Amino acid sequence: MSRYLGSVCKLCRREREKLFLKGERCFSNCVFDKNRGKNGPGQHGSSKGKMSDYAKHLREKQKAKRMYGLTEEQFKHYYEEAEKMKGSPGDNLLKLLELRLDNVVFRLGFASSKRMSRQIVNHGNIIVNGKRVDVPRYCVKVGDVITVPEKYKMNAAMKKLVEKPVSNVPSWLSFDKNKILGTMVSEPLAGELYQSNIDSQLIIEYYSK
Ligand code: SF4
Repeated sequence: MSRYLGSVCKLCRREREKLFLKGERCFSNCVFDKNRGKNGPGQHGSSKGKMSDYAKHLREKQKAKRMYGLTEEQFKHYYEEAEKMKGSPGDNLLKLLELRLDNVVFRLGFASSKRMSRQIVNHGNIIVNGKRVDVPRYCVKVGDVITVPEKYKMNAAMKKLVEKPVSNVPSWLSFDKNKILGTMVSEPLAGELYQSNIDSQLIIEYYSK
């Protein structure tokens, strides 16, 4: 199944929730905020009918898949991996998603949206442990050091990043703003995995039915 290329704001409307897919514009110029009360699928927005159990599970899966910008196949693959790992499959799933290189690049603040961070990785502008890595699904490990090539530090977006105060970098990552260099210092804590407001248990139940 191919990646969704339509308007990402429609996805927020579909999920009846802000998914923050457009970076800074989601805070300053959001159609979801402007249409409050009318958000939902269809021409006239939501008629807030009661959702079936199946629909609740499906919507949670779709929401998470869209937040991380993954196809159905990619997302299901993470579910299968999470099931094989020790511990809670729900926590494992969120952890695998959080540790994707494109997500870590976003969490470090190198990009204002996950879509943009994937583009930075795809274009070969991310260096992990001294080597260029252009695979967004690369799973970041404790001790990995992430930066950008010297030439890319001159990029306008990177310069802006250095000027901004550091915020929202999770405790399992450290970030040296002056060097534009991030390190994964520990495994993410369970509590931090739930920052995105995703009920991973519903997703696990969706696939296990
Ligand atoms: Fe969603 Fe962002 Fe569009 Fe608002 S601006 S509807 S949060 S993608």
